[in-house]
Amino acid sequence: MQNQSTLEASPNYRIESQPMNGKRILLVEDEPAIREMVTFALSQGGYVVDEAEDSRSAEAKMAEHLPDLILLDWMLPNVSGLELLRRWKRDEPTQEIPVIMLTAKVEERDRVDGLDSGADDYILKPFSVKELSARIRAVLRRSSGAVEDQISIGPIKMDSKAHRVYVREESINLGPTEFRLLEFFMTHPDRVYSRAQLLDYVWGRNMYVEERTVDVHIVRLRKLLKPLDCAHMIQTVRGYGYRLSANK
Ligand code: CA
Repeated sequence: MQNQSTLEASPNYRIESQPMNGKRILLVEDEPAIREMVTFALSQGGYVVDEAEDSRSAEAKMAEHLPDLILLDWMLPNVSGLELLRRWKRDEPTQEIPVIMLTAKVEERDRVDGLDSGADDYILKPFSVKELSARIRAVLRRSSGAVEDQISIGPIKMDSKAHRVYVREESINLGPTEFRLLEFFMTHPDRVYSRAQLLDYVWGRNMYVEERTVDVHIVRLRKLLKPLDCAHMIQTVRGYGYRLSANK
């Protein structure tokens, strides 16, 4: 309640615990009811929302203001959300903007297409406002490069600043690529990434490296973790890629 009154007393006060306030979100969705619901909820949450009902109006909005994040419906009239995503990920000014796909499709293949084309996340319809807000916050946090200094997943602890990794308090030495790979996994636990995505995120989008390079470094990472009994945390997801998880 005290927060409430402070808020009312100074409406322009920026609250540190809500750093997402004022972020601009472009919502591309052809169903008016969903658009209205999402816009209302996000505006309440302090976001500035631009609405578009198809690819043409989306491109027009993008030309006016580049958003901090895009919510992109998969099934749009004329040009699909996936096609729009591919365009934006190709173009210099738009390629760094994180995209969350809104999709009614549940097939694994489609999700893989979306993630392969550069979507940062996807959310299945119907979704709750709470779930959507959580995903938005997570994606914005990731894209702002806010990496915590110390991260622990299961028995593995990483101190990014000191560039050290510990397993049950025992320090282990990783090569620079293994370190970056593990750091990426530890900041994105329990999510599966394809080799192409790992190349993008860990090696960099503009590097030309063969996909099997990823496998080589995964093998090295597992080998380093094996004596410490946590090689199983680097998991192969058949037909798709890899993930880090403390759960078997
Ligand atoms: Ca639609």
